[in-house]
Amino acid sequence: MAIRVLPPPLVQRIAAGEVITQPRAAVRELIDNALDAGSTRVEVEIAAGGYNLIVVHDNGHGIAADDGDLLFARHATSKLASADGLDAVTTLGFRGEALASLATVGEVEISTRHSNEQVGFRITSGGARSPIARQAGTTVTVRQLFSRYPVRREAATPVTEARAIRRVLTHLALIHPEIGWVLRIDGRVALLTTGGGLRDVIATLEGDRPRHLLEVGPLEVDGACIRGLADGPNPASGRGDGIVLSVNGRLCDVPEIRRAIARAYADVLPRQRTPRVILTIEVDPARVDANVHPAKERVAIHDVAAITGPLVDELRTMLGRTAHSVSGQRSLALDLGRLTGMGVAEDRSPYHADGWQTRDISAGSLPALRVVGQIADTLIVCESEIGTLLIDQHRAHERVIYERLLAGESVEADEPARIAIPPRLVSTLEACAIDAQQAGWRWSEFGLDDVLVTATPPEMDPGDLPGVLAQLATEPKHDIAAATACHAALRKRRPLSPTTAVALVEALTQTQTPATCPHGQPIILNLDRDFLERQFGWR
Ligand code: ADP
Ligand code: MG
Repeated sequence: MAIRVLPPPLVQRIAAGEVITQPRAAVRELIDNALDAGSTRVEVEIAAGGYNLIVVHDNGHGIAADDGDLLFARHATSKLASADGLDAVTTLGFRGEALASLATVGEVEISTRHSNEQVGFRITSGGARSPIARQAGTTVTVRQLFSRYPVRREAATPVTEARAIRRVLTHLALIHPEIGWVLRIDGRVALLTTGGGLRDVIATLEGDRPRHLLEVGPLEVDGACIRGLADGPNPASGRGDGIVLSVNGRLCDVPEIRRAIARAYADVLPRQRTPRVILTIEVDPARVDANVHPAKERVAIHDVAAITGPLVDELRTMLGRTAHSVSGQRSLALDLGRLTGMGVAEDRSPYHADGWQTRDISAGSLPALRVVGQIADTLIVCESEIGTLLIDQHRAHERVIYERLLAGESVEADEPARIAIPPRLVSTLEACAIDAQQAGWRWSEFGLDDVLVTATPPEMDPGDLPGVLAQLATEPKHDIAAATACHAALRKRRPLSPTTAVALVEALTQTQTPATCPHGQPIILNLDRDFLERQFGWR
């Protein structure tokens, strides 16, 4: 067969079949038009998955009577005047193809009235036109989609299409929550939102127990603005269809942004689990290419890396602010700086701690607390108005001794004691000689490998000196006072009597810096209410 140019009607059918491949594509194009017309309410109705009927009804500005005759003409659009416009598209439609294609693959009827005009009109793809009275806005009805494409009609999957259309509407409701959406499938209401905002939409979609989503942004970065809602680190369920993105009002995928989100959640969520993240992205239209995909489902953003980097940071910060686990994102170290001005809680609930003579401790540098018990022979558990405190007994004691040492107390030995110093510690001994005075130690006459100890810090024994030096030698952050305190302090894995535990906590509250040990490590972890609520999913 010789090559010949296809007759225009055939070209049109081929092209139309590309634009409108499935009912869901028709629905999306019609909704795009409704949104471009500035609608605040959009109602969609489908029958048999859209194959038999699609109706999209909007309250936008409508179509002027003068434009009526061009509606079904290919590449007729009110949205793009010249090629320059394509470089910065601000509307969802711009190809002027949708209605023309729809008229080729189905029977289309448009009823509309422009808000500036008194009388509306009704026009069909068959060519009939008549004036009508109606409210401002547009109703597009498409019947018998693909009736002239028998193969497609045969391969029709109405249930799948209905589901896909519901999904599209759901996502549109999430990215345009200020619009009231209605979807009817085969006569039944499948989605109904009132335009009351994103949290409202989520509540509608998820029923009685909408999951708790955290606020993202607004994040202004590189001329773009990103905002939305996202899962915290411990989403209550794996339900929901994950990531929903819009760019300048267009529901679409931006693969780079999707990957950035996955990166931000990588070590927070179990593998294979997608977080629920709804983001609307506003960016200079000149940077967006919506023309990279036939159905405009994917868009390209120029220099997207300038956006994804800060977005990951923002999400990480958001996730980090929210406790994940004790060892994870957030430090539970008691932050005394944040506690100033806290009063004592009035309504403390009774509790039981058999065998422990629990005691309230209220004067001092810590919030009022009660010693409840000891766990793991290592931690003293206290109940306080700010949360449940876990106190590291060794570090607490270390802090108590350290501050006492700094007070400069020193106890004369009854008789100077000759103490042998292992050769490897002699240089340590020499190095700390001056500080040792301050910490309460005195020694003299040291020979090659021994000294005469004449005074010790309180509760220390001259024989402790080599142990302190060993501590000092292995712990570069210590000075001799800290090393002494560490050496003298209660060890971990040592059962405490209630009296000792209470005395220790009481002594701790008398120190100046009860929350941090002499080398900067936390002494107290606070399992605060916020943390427990999140961990247990109480709210
Ligand atoms: P495009 O959206 O790319 O411009 P379409 O074929 O979808 O092309 O629509 C053609 C034109 O018809 C639009 O440019 C617009 O002027 C008008 N139009 C279509 N649907 C609506 C609507 N719901 N409200 C107002 N105008 C509409
Ligand atoms: Mg359009």
